[in-house]
Amino acid sequence: MIEMKTPLVEMDGDEMTRILWQMIKDELLTPYINLKTEYYDLGLEHRNETDDQVTIDSAEATKKYGVAVKCATITPNAARVKEYNLKQMWKSPNGTIRALLDGTVFRAPIQVKGIDPCVKNWKKPITLARHAYGDVYKNVEIQVPGAGKAELVYTAADGTEIRETIHEFTGPGIIQGVHNTDDSIRSFAKSCFNYAIDTKQDLWFATKDTISKKYDHRFKDIFQEVYEDSYKNKFESLGLEYFYTLIDDAVARVMKTEGGFIWACKNYDGDVMSDMVSSACGSLAMMTSVLVSPSGVYEYEAAHGTVQRHYYKHLNGEETSTNSVATIFAWTGALRKRGELDNIPELMEFADKLDKATLSTIESGKMTKDLALITSMKDVTVLNSENFIKAIRETLDNM
Ligand code: NAP
Ligand code: MG
Repeated sequence: MIEMKTPLVEMDGDEMTRILWQMIKDELLTPYINLKTEYYDLGLEHRNETDDQVTIDSAEATKKYGVAVKCATITPNAARVKEYNLKQMWKSPNGTIRALLDGTVFRAPIQVKGIDPCVKNWKKPITLARHAYGDVYKNVEIQVPGAGKAELVYTAADGTEIRETIHEFTGPGIIQGVHNTDDSIRSFAKSCFNYAIDTKQDLWFATKDTISKKYDHRFKDIFQEVYEDSYKNKFESLGLEYFYTLIDDAVARVMKTEGGFIWACKNYDGDVMSDMVSSACGSLAMMTSVLVSPSGVYEYEAAHGTVQRHYYKHLNGEETSTNSVATIFAWTGALRKRGELDNIPELMEFADKLDKATLSTIESGKMTKDLALITSMKDVTVLNSENFIKAIRETLDNM
């Protein structure tokens, strides 16, 4: 039995992923680890009972202990308010947690033999870091009805103004105002540099500063400033590179690399590029996701949702074949980080082994239905949710 020192913050969730959560703990964790967690039930019923206080408490606990693992949760919409008889339409737990930890989300495909990326030369995962604040996601827009003058006006606290003409319209058109803050960009930069050091990978960052000489240029300057002030020495001593280029150049280069680096993107670029990278690599169920705060707090989760459709089948007593890989990797990510912070090498080794056992189970041809549909392997065995986890346990025990 492996012993732990500091508890992990455990955030339980909803629907099919809540079922997988328990199976993973029972089959793959508690037989080997004396699991120490501080448990928060973020299942929708309990969030509703506590007026969502439990979500805030779990984020505060994450700040206190430093590492959390989160199950997928329902973000309520009108249908969910009715289904769960909610007091109100509670906010997205991920949004609440992200706001409290001020973090950046890093996502990377879990690559395995037999599930090959469409881009042939991608041998190693590309980690996408998306800035999650501002730009077009907090825009103000006007549909211009006809001729007139559009201006950009900033009024300082003391009343002084900065004024720029956007365009003298001679007919109808459109205008848009976007913003970001130095603080948010700086936090984003720090999270990216910390994560690069943590995972020993190069960091790429790209904007369109040749065209956007003030807005995008500010991003470039802040990254460079943060790099030189706090990270350059560390990067050099680890042999890592911080590389800035134009976004179109980055896109062209990414296609030709073999992967294995972090690609930091502005909000919109990150939205678009993370969907490109993940779909090129097969499935959302084969994607790790970790929220890293600029102060160095980590929250690990799966990139997919609660897999509602499978849950309803499960409730009907039907068999499901839900992929638990991303949720297993959330646990191993958190355990490995806990082991690193508390200096427990056995815990880190166990996390590595469980990752390996999961991937070699798939490589031996045993997998869930979603992967069976896209694999290049012949004669695979499709397992149900439970038997897939049991097959991983068998591989693990053989190791
Ligand atoms: P989803 O849970 O990601 O599932 C969408 C579809 O993708 C599933 O129906 C399934 O396709 C496939 N899929 C996703 N994960 C899979 C897995 N592990 N194994 C096999 N197939 C998988 O998205 P959703 O159904 O749109 O959303 C359900 C709930 O999740 C919503 O209430 C939403 O708010 C929440 N959500 C939470 C998070 C989070 O907590 N991080 C993220 C996104 C969504 P087939 O049905 O074709 O098999
Ligand atoms: Mg998107």
